[in-house]
Amino acid sequence: MNRPDSVIIIGGGIIGCSIAYGLAVKGVRVTVLDKGALCAEASTAAAGMLGAQVETHQPGPFYELCKASQRMYPEWANELQEISGISLQYIGKGILRVALTEEDEAELKSRLPWMDGAEWLTAAQTCEIEPALSEAVRGGIYFAQDHQVHPLYVARALKSALLKLGSSIREWTPVLRLIIEGNRVVGVKTTDGDLYAEQIVLSAGAWSPSLLEPLAFKLPSFPVKGQCISVRTETSLISSTVFAKGCYIVPRLDGTLTIGATQEEIGFNKKTSLSAVSLLHQKASAIVPSLSEVEFVSTWAGLRPGTPDGLPYIGQLSDAPGLTIATGHFRNGILLAPITGQLVTELLTGQPLSIGLEPYSPERNP
Ligand SMILES: Cc1cc2nc3c(=O)[nH]c(=O)nc-3n(C[C@H](O)[C@H](O)[C@H](O)COP(=O)(O)OP(=O)(O)OC[C@H]3O[C@@H](n4cnc5c(N)ncnc54)[C@H](O)[C@@H]3O)c2cc1C
Repeated sequence: MNRPDSVIIIGGGIIGCSIAYGLAVKGVRVTVLDKGALCAEASTAAAGMLGAQVETHQPGPFYELCKASQRMYPEWANELQEISGISLQYIGKGILRVALTEEDEAELKSRLPWMDGAEWLTAAQTCEIEPALSEAVRGGIYFAQDHQVHPLYVARALKSALLKLGSSIREWTPVLRLIIEGNRVVGVKTTDGDLYAEQIVLSAGAWSPSLLEPLAFKLPSFPVKGQCISVRTETSLISSTVFAKGCYIVPRLDGTLTIGATQEEIGFNKKTSLSAVSLLHQKASAIVPSLSEVEFVSTWAGLRPGTPDGLPYIGQLSDAPGLTIATGHFRNGILLAPITGQLVTELLTGQPLSIGLEPYSPERNP
């Protein structure tokens, strides 16, 4: 495939924007369309952990994909900052994954043989790293490479960089459906008229499947709600992200702590609930007891694009030339943004792929 003259990206979350950024740097004319403001859905609801190790439970291609993206992050963040003038608030500290139950300890220990550099820490050793931890902590692993960014700043930097690179960003412009000629996807019908391009990328997060309806292709993907809370403490309690089964606590540069997250499969429902606030607070206090008395700052929810096998969809359909799909990044879209941007750019500009896309084919049976 030669470099396309023009590309339309449907959905300006972190995935759509990182693809647009990869293409724009290569000189491709890109238009990003979003039904609302850029990155206002899952991408800024996220905690911003770059958790290649903490989020992976088995070795294989997905772990390699996550690690490849994690390795790209420092340079990607620097380049974006240089172009946009906005820091992504990249923090190069790791994640302390702790076990509170025997079962969780066994699961964590089962990762040690294949996870490079992972070492089991006793309860005393975890407390040396984070003295505020509960006595109930049985031990854990410090994932030194699992750094973090602040998703709000990533969103702002991507938007600014795209504008500086001459891309067109059309917010509040929902795509109503794909325009198909013969079997080729040639454009999109929006609330603001029809738009055409040589290539179309579908990266509309949890909303992606409905846009494929005219192709009679069913993409198995669904929304998975995640609720978080933000709290403020009088003194700083932890310096690394602390992660236990079902709850993590992420320290921010502004002194707040983000506590997340629920995992709820209840459709397109983004309401926050008092029960989730209370559950997250309870779980966090079980990890760091001094969190029982804190100032509540805010709560929010986002819809992760889930898939049955937990893997993203990155690739093209055999029967729909002109269309590329990039969605289903579930719990790892912030982490996987740089590699997804790079892979889709390679795919669309005819460069050799740096990682094989077979495991992520939208046509696989997940
Ligand atoms: C609580 C929570 C915590 C998380 N924490 C982390 C984390 O720590 N680390 C990590 O790596 N990942 C995390 N994630 C996951 C991550 O947020 C997602 O995987 C990622 O944001 C998905 O990005 P996306 O661009 O595919 O989707 P989205 O951000 O949802 O973007 C899709 C975009 O498409 C637009 N759109 C939809 N329909 C249309 C249409 N018809 N026309 C035009 N535009 C449309 C939407 O408005 C939206 O802006 C978390 C998610 C949640 C909810």
